[in-house]
Amino acid sequence: MSILVLNAGSSTLKYALLDDAAKTELVGGVVDWHGGDSTATLHFRTPGCEDSHTLVECSDYRGAVYEILHSLTANGIDKKISIVGHRIVHGGPVFNQPTLIDDHMREELEQISTLAPLHNPPALAAVEAARKVFPDAAHIAVFDTAFYSGLPMHEVLYPLPYQWFEEYGIRRYGFHGISHAYCAARAAEILGRQEDLSLRLVICHLGNGCSATAVRGEQPVATTMGFTPLDGLMMGTRSGSIDPGILLHLMQQHGMNGEHLDESLNRQSGLLGISGVSSDFREVEQSANAGHKRASLAIEMFASRIRSTIGAFTVTLGGIDALIFTAGIGEHSTTLRSRVCNGLQCLNLLLDEDKNRENDADSNIAQMDSAVRILLIRTREEQSIARAAQRIRPGSP
Ligand code: ADP
Repeated sequence: MSILVLNAGSSTLKYALLDDAAKTELVGGVVDWHGGDSTATLHFRTPGCEDSHTLVECSDYRGAVYEILHSLTANGIDKKISIVGHRIVHGGPVFNQPTLIDDHMREELEQISTLAPLHNPPALAAVEAARKVFPDAAHIAVFDTAFYSGLPMHEVLYPLPYQWFEEYGIRRYGFHGISHAYCAARAAEILGRQEDLSLRLVICHLGNGCSATAVRGEQPVATTMGFTPLDGLMMGTRSGSIDPGILLHLMQQHGMNGEHLDESLNRQSGLLGISGVSSDFREVEQSANAGHKRASLAIEMFASRIRSTIGAFTVTLGGIDALIFTAGIGEHSTTLRSRVCNGLQCLNLLLDEDKNRENDADSNIAQMDSAVRILLIRTREEQSIARAAQRIRPGSP
């Protein structure tokens, strides 16, 4: 028996197969369409073996799920898949727990799709495909927003007419919750402070999307992403928080419409917008090292916004016990971590540059005499989804 985890993006379907206890990843990979239509690359990795890449003919998620199944069989992995855990970005106001997907629940998911038009529709298509390919498995939705269901009301609301909250549901939801929840629990474990309600953490998830969350005793008390994943920190192609007056000005004085603003804020801003080079941090870093001025500026802005958020969240928490870096940039960029921490000495947060260069997952990279621990944690969203799904499968205690 095993658990399959599916994480659908607009042109990718990430997958992982875990053992029945949701502890060990047996296989992982991604089907990637690169924006093309009927041909995709299937990446397949198993621990201890070299990664493989195969071109496959498939034009939709159903085809992709079949290709994943074929590659498992072709590689001699014939474990029965009893649970499929689906990552769903937005659970709306309704879903704040992992939930078994049946026809009724599927319809409810469809209804909240308008809240996350970029993120939920691909996941729903993957749910549909996987239910056809694995009709006997329990399909369970695990939500990125669920971690924030207990966020205090003064953090949930925006200072807008209250009626917008009541009538249109305008409120903060918070995203990347699966990763933040995993990191909070892992940090408590590393620090030997599980179930310590006074533990104060600031977690920075820095990937293509970026967010920070302030956590007390494993519960979130503030987060940067909001009604949509566009709010908060500067990201690969997303702006993060900006003066909303800019949008009014562009609409009123330059005739920009919603579609144009959507494209600009979601896909043409952030690291890409400022550097003009790329949305990929590594490429921006390389250009900056080669003397590209706008690439350097983009990195300085990126770091500066993270630093200010850490400061603000430290005040929110009334102090900080550990700062956590995770996701692609957080886990791998020595220079970014260094830049962010340089300026936080006022919090008695002191980075050990040698440990920082070692890039060891799940390690403390602070100096011995730093009052604040600095942890580099490898996020394991697939494992978290599998565990959450396993806990609620029909028949589990
Ligand atoms: P996603 O949000 O799509 O899951 P990831 O968490 O994989 O993204 O993060 C992708 C980002 O991580 C990219 O900007 C990439 O350049 C960056 N990244 C990955 N490896 C490194 C590295 N060794 N050094 C710096 N940045 C890196």
